[in-house]
Amino acid sequence: AGLRRGSRATSPDGSNGNGARRRANSGAKGGDSGDNLTRVRVAVRCRPFSADEADQQCVISMKEQLTTVLDPAYFEYREALGASAPIDEAQFRRDFTFDSCFWSHEAEHLNHPSPRVRPRRQGGEDDEAIGHASQEVVFEELGRPMVNAAMKGINSSLFAYGQTGSGKTYTMLGDIGVSNPEEGNDADKASVLSPETAINDPSPSALGESELPEHSGVIPRICDALFHSTRGLQAQIQITFVEVYNEQLFDLIRAPGGDASDPPPLKVREDNEKGPYAPDATLVTVTNNVEVRRLLALGLAARTTAATRMNDESSRSHAIFTVILRMAPAGDDAVESLTSKIHLVDLAGSERGNSTGVR
Ligand code: ADP
Ligand code: MG
Repeated sequence: AGLRRGSRATSPDGSNGNGARRRANSGAKGGDSGDNLTRVRVAVRCRPFSADEADQQCVISMKEQLTTVLDPAYFEYREALGASAPIDEAQFRRDFTFDSCFWSHEAEHLNHPSPRVRPRRQGGEDDEAIGHASQEVVFEELGRPMVNAAMKGINSSLFAYGQTGSGKTYTMLGDIGVSNPEEGNDADKASVLSPETAINDPSPSALGESELPEHSGVIPRICDALFHSTRGLQAQIQITFVEVYNEQLFDLIRAPGGDASDPPPLKVREDNEKGPYAPDATLVTVTNNVEVRRLLALGLAARTTAATRMNDESSRSHAIFTVILRMAPAGDDAVESLTSKIHLVDLAGSERGNSTGVR
């Protein structure tokens, strides 16, 4: 309809839940059930307009857990019937309730031309009421509970779902502070050449400091929080980064060279306890967020290269970043050490899920 919706990050089945079900689910906020991670949570994020969308009309508004979508047909009726004609806007409005609604669009767009399309149940001051969902806000709401759960030995997964261009990669990776080695300067190239140089290069080189960039996404933030949480503990953090393309699994942080132009897919094994896994996926032990971001850059470059080689777009692959945390038990009771996993999945663009064979 020529009108863009914001980005969506919903559960893989695309469900967004209706109000009644949501309320039933959200009764027990907090508690000590691993930061409420024992159930599926669904969040939605609305990104800003891109440059070529600047003249578009925003049809989304948000208030707390409620996201309202205005049918673009409303504007056509308005125009056809004139400003004074009585039009029942409610007919053009649909409300969706999520566990979290992240307004990352510019504040001005929350002010809808039709006041009744604005979220209801509020005392004016829309912008203030909703605030701006920065990368940090999104991490604190979605990523932090996963970190806390991992520290208790609970596994968790986060999936970014939505059309190409809706903001999945921005939310998951964001600005990692390392340019694509294909186009980067020599210092960047050197620092992301291989998993080995990514973790062994002692100089942060082009990265400058070890501070996370302001726009870094959930993945580097989760890793950084894990480094902080495990400081002083006997812990090991390892990562893998793979992609699913055409129902085959590929390593995104394999060392370059060899047959890099035509990487063989990874073997997938079933394990009764672990479930499906890839024994040959490169597993890298990381100790700080500079290493993590270098490995992310390496993976991103591999994803882009592979997509270009196949004359395709990276939007047709799922990228899966896995963090494995191992901790020795506190005290010296010789109980088993704790292992937990966090899966962070940047799904293929939802618009082509069926034609690609990517599921
Ligand atoms: P996807 O991975 O879903 O295809 P991207 O993450 O690449 O989409 O986002 C598309 C464009 O929109 C990128 O240029 C990205 O930087 C920008 N973008 C997405 N989300 C936001 C946001 N919350 N704030 C600012 N820019 C965003
Ligand atoms: Mg993407």
